[in-house]
Amino acid sequence: MCVKVPLRGNLQTGIIVNFLHKSQFKKVLPIHSIVSDKTLMTQELFKLADWISQYYHTPLAKTLKLFFPKSVRKGMGHKKQQVVIRKKSLEELRELCMSLRLKKPKQARVLDELLKVEKEVFLTELLERSGVSRSVVQTLAKQDCLELLSTRVDRNPLDKAEYFPSKPKKLTSDQQNAYDKISSSLASEKFQSFLLFGVTGSGKTEVYMQAMEVTLKKGKRALMLVPEIALTTQTVEKLKSRFKDKISILHHRLSQGERFDQWHAIRSGEASIVIGARSAIFAPIDKLGLVIVDEEHELSYKQTDEMPTYNARDIAVMRAKMNEATIILGSATPSLESFTNVKKGKYEMLTLSSRANSALMPKIEIVDMKSEIEKSKGFTLFSQRLLSEIDKRFKKGEQSIIFLNRRGFHTSLVCTQCAEVEKCPSCDISLTFHRKSDTLNCHLCDYRIGPPRLCSKCKSPTIKFRGYGTENVESQLRKIFPEIRTLRMDADTTKHVGSYEKLYYAFRNHKADVLIGTQMVAKGLHFPSVTLVGVLNCDRQFNIPDFKGAEIGFQMITQVSGRAGRGEVSGNVILQTFNKESSYLKHAIDGDYVAFYEQEIASRKFFSYPPFAHLIKILFRGKSESQTLKVAHKFYQLLSFRIGKVGLVQAPLPCGYPKIKEYYRFQILLKGHNIYALNECIQRVEEEMQMPSSVRLIVDVDPSSTFF
Ligand code: ADP
Ligand code: ZN
Ligand code: ZN
Repeated sequence: MCVKVPLRGNLQTGIIVNFLHKSQFKKVLPIHSIVSDKTLMTQELFKLADWISQYYHTPLAKTLKLFFPKSVRKGMGHKKQQVVIRKKSLEELRELCMSLRLKKPKQARVLDELLKVEKEVFLTELLERSGVSRSVVQTLAKQDCLELLSTRVDRNPLDKAEYFPSKPKKLTSDQQNAYDKISSSLASEKFQSFLLFGVTGSGKTEVYMQAMEVTLKKGKRALMLVPEIALTTQTVEKLKSRFKDKISILHHRLSQGERFDQWHAIRSGEASIVIGARSAIFAPIDKLGLVIVDEEHELSYKQTDEMPTYNARDIAVMRAKMNEATIILGSATPSLESFTNVKKGKYEMLTLSSRANSALMPKIEIVDMKSEIEKSKGFTLFSQRLLSEIDKRFKKGEQSIIFLNRRGFHTSLVCTQCAEVEKCPSCDISLTFHRKSDTLNCHLCDYRIGPPRLCSKCKSPTIKFRGYGTENVESQLRKIFPEIRTLRMDADTTKHVGSYEKLYYAFRNHKADVLIGTQMVAKGLHFPSVTLVGVLNCDRQFNIPDFKGAEIGFQMITQVSGRAGRGEVSGNVILQTFNKESSYLKHAIDGDYVAFYEQEIASRKFFSYPPFAHLIKILFRGKSESQTLKVAHKFYQLLSFRIGKVGLVQAPLPCGYPKIKEYYRFQILLKGHNIYALNECIQRVEEEMQMPSSVRLIVDVDPSSTFF
C-alpha cells in the first residue's frame, strides 16, 4: 500500500512492503495517512520487483515506481485537476508550432507536447514535459490555441474506430506445429519458453492470436509486448479485429490520467489481453497464462537512460516463470542471446520457414557503389539499377520503399578552410540541416538555429553542406521522376499525434508510389503492393563500432528486405554497398540467419562478449568534464582493487556521445560471469567512495551497447 509518512519535516510517499514486530530505531513515528485504499500489488509482482532491484542494481523503492503510474502513487486522478486540451485543429497547431520554433521556442515546446498526446493532458504534466512555466501555457490559452479546464474530462471514451471482425485463419503446417506445441504447454500450466523463429511474413501474429484464444478459453490472461513503433495502427488493428474490447492497449501517447484509468481497468480484470511497449511488462495483470514478446531482438525493449536499466524481454521470461506461464519470443532475426538459449536447451525453437500467404521470399541483389561512382564520375545517391527498377514498378502500378537511416537534408555543415564542423553548443555532435524548416538541428537536444553564413571558427564564408538524409532523398527523387508521388516517414514527419497513421493509410491506400524513410519503414509494416525495397547505404548499418554492430546490421537488412513482395507479386531488394565482399552482407542476401549466427558467435566467444560473459557499463555524468573524469578514475581504481576474480574492469573512456545537453559522459566497462557478484563490488565501491552529488552514476546491466 501507498502511505504518507513524516520524513525530514515533510510528508513523503512511502510503500509498505513488510511488517516488523521490532524496530532497530528508538523512536518510530506513526504513519500519517493512507494514499491508496487497496493493496497496490500482488505478491507475485513484488517478488518480481525484488528480483529486478537486485539484478539491475537499483534500490527497491525506485524499482517499485515502475509498477504503478505516478498518478496512482500520488493518489491523483480522483481529485479535480487542471487539464489542457487543444482548441485548434492538429494541422493549424502544427503550422503554428513550426512558425514559433525559432522565435518563441518555449511556446513551440508546449505545442510539441500538446501535439503528442491523444486527447488531453494534466497541466502539471505538460509543464514538466515541456520544461516551461505556467505563463507560457497561459499565453497560448489567450491566443485560443489551447484551453485549461478544471473538471475531469472523460479520459476513456469508447474507441471510435471501427474494426472489421476477423476469424482465425486455417494454419499452415509450420504454424500448426508451433500452435500444437504452444497449446500443450498452455494446457500443462507449467513454465515453458519458445523461440518462434519465423521468416518475415510467415504469420507469427496469427500464431500469437490463436495462442491467446486458447489462453482466454482456460480463463487466463495474456500479455503481449511489441516494439514502440509497432504499437501503432497495424498491430492494434489486427488484434482489435480479432478480440475487440477484450484488449487493453498501453499506448505510449497516453497521458498520466489515461494511464491511471488503464492501470485500474487492467487491475480490476476488465481486460483479458494487454498489449503494450516496454513498460507494459509491469502491468498489474493476474492469472497470467501467456506472455508474448514480438520482435524479441529489438533494442527498444531495453531501458538505457535510467535505472533500473531493464530489458523487458528478460523480465518477461522471469515473469512467465514466476507464473508457471508459457512465453513466446518471436523474431525473424533472433538476438544472439536467445538463439544461444535454444542451443543450450533453455528455449524450444519453433520454426516458420516460409511465408504464410503463399508469397515468396524476396530476391535480394547488391549494387557496388564504388563502380557506380566511377561510372557517374562523382557521388550519386541512387544507382542506375535502383532508378530503373523504381521506374519499372511505378509504370506497373506497384509500390517501392527506399530506406536510409539518416534524417534531415544534409548531415553536417563543414568549413572547407579550417575543417570545422558546426556542432551543437550543448552536445558534442554535428548539427543536421533540415530544409523544410531551414534550420540546423541537434538530434540529441532541442537546439536549432538558422544556418550561419560564415564558419563559426575562422569566419570564412567557405562552408559547405555534407551528407544526405531522407529529406534529401525525397527531393532528389522528385527531381528525377516528377510524376512519381512520394511520402516520407521519419521522426520529423511523425512527431505529432495522428501523423504516423495518416502516412500509413496514405501509403496503404496507394496515395503514393514510393515511401522513403528511416528504420520506421524497415520494421513490421505489411504493404502487399510493395514489390521493391532499396537500401541506399547498407554499410552504415554494419559500421557501428559496437559489439552488437554486426547483429544490428544483419537484423536491419533482413527486416527491411522483408517488406518486399508480401502480396501476390513477388518482390526484389536492392542493397547499395561500398563493401560488396562483406560476409555479413552475404548471409543477409542468402537469408541465412544460422550462417550469420555461427560467424558472429565465434567472434563473441573470442572476445568473451555476451552471451559468453555479462557486461556492466557504469556511466558517469556531470557538468564539469574534469571532475567527472576524476570521479570515474577514482571509482575505477577502487573497483580494480575490489574486483579480484569476479571479473575484469576497463579504465574510464569517454562515451560514444561524450557530451549530451551540457553533461559530460564517461564510462567504465565490467565483464564477468556473475551479475550479483559484480553488483556487490559496485555497491561496496559506492559506499566507500561517497559520490559527489554533482556527478551522477548510472549502472547499465547487460548494456545493449558499449559505445553509446
Ligand atoms: P510476420 O509477423 O511473421 O512477419 P504476419 O503475421 O504479418 O507475418 O503475416 C503475413 C501475412 O500472412 C498477413 O497478411 C497474414 O494475414 C497472412 N497470414 C498469416 N497466417 C496465414 C494463414 N494461415 N493463411 C493465410 N494467410 C495467413
Ligand atoms: Zn572555418
Ligand atoms: Zn544538442
